[in-house]
Amino acid sequence: MKRVVHAACPHDCPDACSVLITVEDGRATRIQGNPDHPVTRGFLCGKVAKYLDRVYSPQRLLRPMRRIAPKGQRGVDAFVPISWDEALDAIASKFKAVAAEFGPEAILPYSYGGTLGTIQGSTMDHRFFHRLGASQLDRTICSTAGGVGLTSVVGVKLGTEPEQFSHSRYIIAWGANIHGNNIHLWPFIEEARRSGAKLVVIDPYKTRTARLADWHLQIRPGTDVALALGMMHVIFSEGLADEDYVARYTIGADKLRARAAQYSPERVAEITGISADDVRKIAREYATTRPAAIRLNYGVQRSENGGMAVRAITMLPCITGSWKHIGGGLQLSVSGAFALNKQGLKRPDLMRKTLGRDARVLNMIQLGKHLTEDLKPPVKALFVFHSNPAAVAPNRTLVLKGLKRDDLFTVVHEQFLTETCDYADIVLPATTFFEHADLQTSYGHCHLQRSDVAIAPLGEARCNSDVFRALAERMGFTEECFRQTDEELIAEALKSDDPRMKDITPESLAEEYSQRINFGKGDNEPFLPFAEGGFQTPSGKAELYSESLVAQGLDGVVEFVPPVESRNGNSGEYPLELLARKHDNFMNSTFANLDGHRAMERTGDLHLHPTDAGVRKISDGDRVKVFNARGELLLRARVGYTVGEGVVAAGLDWAGLDGGTHNVNVLTSDRPTDMGGGATFYSALVQVEKA
Ligand code: SF4
Repeated sequence: MKRVVHAACPHDCPDACSVLITVEDGRATRIQGNPDHPVTRGFLCGKVAKYLDRVYSPQRLLRPMRRIAPKGQRGVDAFVPISWDEALDAIASKFKAVAAEFGPEAILPYSYGGTLGTIQGSTMDHRFFHRLGASQLDRTICSTAGGVGLTSVVGVKLGTEPEQFSHSRYIIAWGANIHGNNIHLWPFIEEARRSGAKLVVIDPYKTRTARLADWHLQIRPGTDVALALGMMHVIFSEGLADEDYVARYTIGADKLRARAAQYSPERVAEITGISADDVRKIAREYATTRPAAIRLNYGVQRSENGGMAVRAITMLPCITGSWKHIGGGLQLSVSGAFALNKQGLKRPDLMRKTLGRDARVLNMIQLGKHLTEDLKPPVKALFVFHSNPAAVAPNRTLVLKGLKRDDLFTVVHEQFLTETCDYADIVLPATTFFEHADLQTSYGHCHLQRSDVAIAPLGEARCNSDVFRALAERMGFTEECFRQTDEELIAEALKSDDPRMKDITPESLAEEYSQRINFGKGDNEPFLPFAEGGFQTPSGKAELYSESLVAQGLDGVVEFVPPVESRNGNSGEYPLELLARKHDNFMNSTFANLDGHRAMERTGDLHLHPTDAGVRKISDGDRVKVFNARGELLLRARVGYTVGEGVVAAGLDWAGLDGGTHNVNVLTSDRPTDMGGGATFYSALVQVEKA
């Protein structure tokens, strides 16, 4: 029998595609983008178009396993298969023993965006660890700096919907590789360009998007704050600000004017590497072309001053008033549109009941430190799901040192034997989104989707909610919430009095699969969140000056503070700035193990500028050693203009594939960003020499 199932892509991508899966006699035979979805518009990215290869890969983990070899030993031979009962009993008994001896905070969950599905991503697991009283994980690795920077100005994660970009006449992609990882915005941009719009890319790396743009400004890493201030300098001094909008809807404009006055285009040119003329040109074009939109993506906030960078850029549409126009404004994230019942799903009250207080919080980007330092209590048990910290966490050498500890009990719930599984005591097989139901929000558009089950779980794979339901039972957690089914969890998520959720019910979603958030507009009517103010800050205005940042010891306006590891900071014996990038055809470390995906990607390269290669006598194709005090990596030199002078770039990969022993995270730092405790993957200094 043949049928078509509606699902939604849960990978960490703003597009959250509506997916159609054809199933014949219980086997998925085709995947395609839903042609009727207003953002997906009938196509999928290259990564997920090949998803059948992932679901049916012979490498899929299909049974629970227990380690029999020393930690660090890779592959199935390091494990023996065990039953689910054995696995769950072993985990529950270890958790009970650790909690009894060290207290429950000696147990740490570790998860991130392996799935962004609401139900499988963070519901039953949060309830479980809250009820247990385990340490809380500060999930900072991707977006917190940007989130704090954005909301410090506008108060909420909202912005320009993708559908509106077709109306834009000037589009700045700022740290946004739209063609690589936000591909469903591209057709809207192309529509705009056919009507005469200009696309400008600001990025230290010549991405696919930069190559296709009308103008690429190759900014030095970590200097975006200075460029934004330089643009403001020109906009204010040349009378290009929308003074009416500024007066009505912002606070702190005078303080910002005074600060911007200090950033002349000449000074900005010295900091950013962009000429003073180009600073003037982009400021004038941006401020005088209507409508002008900025697609700001998370690359910008992966520098040490990333929060301040996002804050500064978010101020631009507030001083030009471009929030007023269809196709104006800015998008970093629109995830604030979805008013789901998160408290009901995650139940933080359970933690307070167990501990009488909130459990301690450990920042995920400092996993290596947490596993190796003298914490009280120490981390004695680690449960990893939806993440692969041995590959993706910064300061990898320290992470591996921690994971190797024989007295650390590590469980990994996964679809494949990842690098983190190399250190797991127990691995549990996980379902893919074909095999479980979910509810899908998005941070790139405002349509809530239901994702149906397409096929039965492969082998003995179980979904996240199911695993934690079973563990809760073994731990003796009797609360009713641990018995909720996935369908009941979906209904729980939608219990919301917020008017934005009006008319979105389990029944309506089961019928329509995708519904736009209710902004009080018609289905196709544009929503302009800040056209008439409406900022959700403490003052109700766009905060160009923020008292709450001052209270945190930060600059209340915005200021360029160079990253410690940068040429403007402290370059010393490591003079090159490293961009630890993600490959376009992988999703961080996801997909990197599949041959079909590897065939689409060039891995193992270090991009460097001809000047930097020349002084080191390095030619294109040479083996090179990239190193700093944290570690070293052998790569193949790619000499060219993909990066500017003084900058090198390498992609995140699994170590061990392509014959390597390390990945780029041996070089990255676990120093947090200025706001939000985020990861600073783009603030790392290195040296390079011929191997
Ligand atoms: S990864 Fe992004 S673009 Fe690709 S299918 Fe998923 S949501 Fe769509």
